[in-house]
Amino acid sequence: MSQADRHVVHLQDGALAEVGAIIDRVAASRLYFVVDASAYSASGAATVLEPNFRDRAVTRFTDFDLNPKLHDVERGIEQFRQADPELMIALGGGTAIDLGKLIGTLACHHESARDIIMGNSAIRQSGPPLIAVPTTAGTGSEATHFAVAYVEGVKYSVAHSVLLPDYAIVDSTLTHSLPASITASTGLDAFCQAIESIWAVGATNESIEYATRSARLAMNSLVNATQNPTADVRRDMCRASHLAGRAINISKTTAPHALSYSITSEYGVPHGIAVALTLSPMLAYNAQVSKLNCADPRGPEHVRARIDLILELLGVNSVAAACNRMENLVSASGCPNSLALVGIKTDASIRRLVNQVDAHRLSNNPRHATSESLFALLTKTCAQGQRGM
Ligand SMILES: [Zn+2]
Repeated sequence: MSQADRHVVHLQDGALAEVGAIIDRVAASRLYFVVDASAYSASGAATVLEPNFRDRAVTRFTDFDLNPKLHDVERGIEQFRQADPELMIALGGGTAIDLGKLIGTLACHHESARDIIMGNSAIRQSGPPLIAVPTTAGTGSEATHFAVAYVEGVKYSVAHSVLLPDYAIVDSTLTHSLPASITASTGLDAFCQAIESIWAVGATNESIEYATRSARLAMNSLVNATQNPTADVRRDMCRASHLAGRAINISKTTAPHALSYSITSEYGVPHGIAVALTLSPMLAYNAQVSKLNCADPRGPEHVRARIDLILELLGVNSVAAACNRMENLVSASGCPNSLALVGIKTDASIRRLVNQVDAHRLSNNPRHATSESLFALLTKTCAQGQRGM
């Protein structure tokens, strides 16, 4: 069975009601539920789901750190093995869904979670079916076959086809109560994932189709979703997030994501904002692609055509205007739009940032980049920003 065959997506408002039908169909009497407790009650999901749990043994995993950590995965695996569930449900933001993927799958392996996450042992088999229910419009984790986990402050990405959730329930009514700050940071993740996906070395015609639709929706709806949210705008952002997830499931992400992980772990900047901080400098950098530095085997003309598509989506006709447009989108969403604004402005702090870049994600950037070239780019961007302030 291919990935797509066993990946069922419910995208409509009210889709959460499908969970009860799936539990019945699978005939599961023991459930394991990774749940962000505050999102569960605030989103209204508790009211819909609790009646389905009445006559079933439900083991709940709550109280986990934001951004998946090894110690939470290990704690979940132990609890999971005792409960021996027939079905997994993960409800919350990207953290809850990534934890659901990792706990359910890694619990079915003899090898340690640490070894698998760090890439020293391979995933060999799947866990029980997983229903992923996002309560934010951002990561698109319900549509991807990878999961992020931090081991002693270092970020790892685990990838395997069995990590793709069997069911994705994308119900935008669950995002209606989200505060503006979370709407903005998660929505920026979706937008950046779409843009990065378009220029990624791993992009295909199919991923570009998803990413283009996602970027268009996010461009039109992100600011309204943070400042004047309506049901329509929330629905558009949920679609944007899900489509960006499908896009990066194929293409993977690039330099802004590669740079973002240490900004999040060292400076506590939410993931989507951390990614957006280097999106516009990387657009300027990638637009200067040439035969000598092109990482995409399809060549620099191909990359330039992708950059032109991004300019078209942003409604501008120069790279400088596109950078402005992106930075304005970030600030209009109420978020800091430069490294300096989150406290990364000295040469030493930029040096530390580029030295911790995720090399694997960086290799998917369309123009070759090294710690040195990123240092030159980001110090120049910071200096220009400070002159402009
Ligand atoms: Zn992301």
